[in-house]
Amino acid sequence: MLSNERTTCLVVGGGPAGLILGLLMARAGVEVTVLEKHGDFLRDFRGDTVHASTLTLLDELGLGERFAALPQRRIERAQVQFDAGVAQIADLSRLPGAHQHIAMVPQWDFLDLVADAAEEEPTFTLRRNAEAIGLLHEGRRVAGVRYRDRTDGSEHELRASLTVACDGRGSVVRAAAGLVPRSFGVPIDVWWFRLPRRETDPAGGVGRISAGQFAVMIDRGDYWQCAFLISKGSDAAMRAAGLERFRERIAGLLPWMADRLDALTSLHDVKLLDVKLERLRTWHREGLLLIGDAAHAMSPVGGVGINLAVADAVATARLLAPALRSGGIVPRSLLRKVQRRRWWPAALIQGGQRIAHRAVFRGRGATAGTPVANTDPVGLADGVPLAPAEALPPPLRLLRQFPVLQGVPARLIAIGPLPEHAPDWARRTTEPADR
Ligand SMILES: Cc1cc2nc3c(=O)[nH]c(=O)nc-3n(C[C@H](O)[C@H](O)[C@H](O)COP(=O)(O)OP(=O)(O)OC[C@H]3O[C@@H](n4cnc5c(N)ncnc54)[C@H](O)[C@@H]3O)c2cc1C
Repeated sequence: MLSNERTTCLVVGGGPAGLILGLLMARAGVEVTVLEKHGDFLRDFRGDTVHASTLTLLDELGLGERFAALPQRRIERAQVQFDAGVAQIADLSRLPGAHQHIAMVPQWDFLDLVADAAEEEPTFTLRRNAEAIGLLHEGRRVAGVRYRDRTDGSEHELRASLTVACDGRGSVVRAAAGLVPRSFGVPIDVWWFRLPRRETDPAGGVGRISAGQFAVMIDRGDYWQCAFLISKGSDAAMRAAGLERFRERIAGLLPWMADRLDALTSLHDVKLLDVKLERLRTWHREGLLLIGDAAHAMSPVGGVGINLAVADAVATARLLAPALRSGGIVPRSLLRKVQRRRWWPAALIQGGQRIAHRAVFRGRGATAGTPVANTDPVGLADGVPLAPAEALPPPLRLLRQFPVLQGVPARLIAIGPLPEHAPDWARRTTEPADR
């Protein structure tokens, strides 16, 4: 057991929150170590969205050109397809600022880019295959973590002035600190699977609602990453109903996908993602702060969790780096300040997600094996008929009647309620490679 390792800021978890925080702390000249339990970022179930406010942040950090060079697709409007046709709910061309779209980039590409930029800073260290397994204390103060090196099973201790938990919705650090999040009932889980994509298919993100069923497809070039919402707890019953029944449901909901459902050869190809919506009342202890999903686990609805985690990280760096740079212990009052700033955007978005959960499954009883009452033969490509206004719920009718209002959901989704900007000390006007 090694017991004398030390850093100034210890970040647990190399997801969007942890890596952005690591990059910013390093640019502030703070010695920062990020522990990531996996050896790479190649996890299938990560989201793919990089929102307009995160694109602006990347510009401020001098990483805009590098990001633009990644293979990506763009979402410039958000549409939902009902049985009666399509309804546009957000028009991103109405957004202020330099970016009027959401970029769809596999999250491992985004995280690799941020990790590469951070590794150019001399005070940054990323330890991969390093899994936090417990907390270290000095009196009542959290003083670092114990972690396991997953390559050889050895255990280590790493001490720090501040520990920041960015280890996601199943946070080990949160549990070790005895913090229990408030859990909001979620009526959905997600079945997550891939289907081949053809050149003639629509591009970007596709959403489809019918008879209490909801699917989202993420365009990843030669395949669709599909998320099919199921009733919470219905996984076992749906698996018992069998592959053929599931193929029928997908073919009913998305007739243009029917020609490729044999790519699903067994229900082993379909993963269950347990959806949670949780929030901590207190995001800190002496010497410890929790941000991102570790503080407020987000539902996939709206695809906004990554943006929110990034914004948490930026606010954390801006508020705490000066104290860490001067070598001192970060006072609890500063940790409180981070929570005060980031609590309400998280609470507001989670409130919206709860309303959306209820709307999708409202009284429809989307149970295992229920056939889809959908006769619409078309997909979501341009040219799909618009749903008649009388078939739409009142808020969508209003958006149809006054298109200028579509700028409001566009702003909420693509920018978020409180976008955060890079502090001056983190900004770069040119690509680091050009400097
Ligand atoms: C099915 C699904 C789809 C989603 N799709 C989208 C989407 O398209 N767009 C969007 O914006 N949001 C989406 N979300 C939400 C989004 O994934 C999260 O809100 C976001 O990833 C939170 O970022 P984070 O950095 O806080 O945590 P995470 O992204 O969960 O990152 C946590 C990191 O910590 C590491 N880790 C965990 N435990 C330890 C440990 N003990 N020691 C060391 N490292 C550890 C993990 O390996 C991981 O890399 C989706 C959520 C779900 C459930």
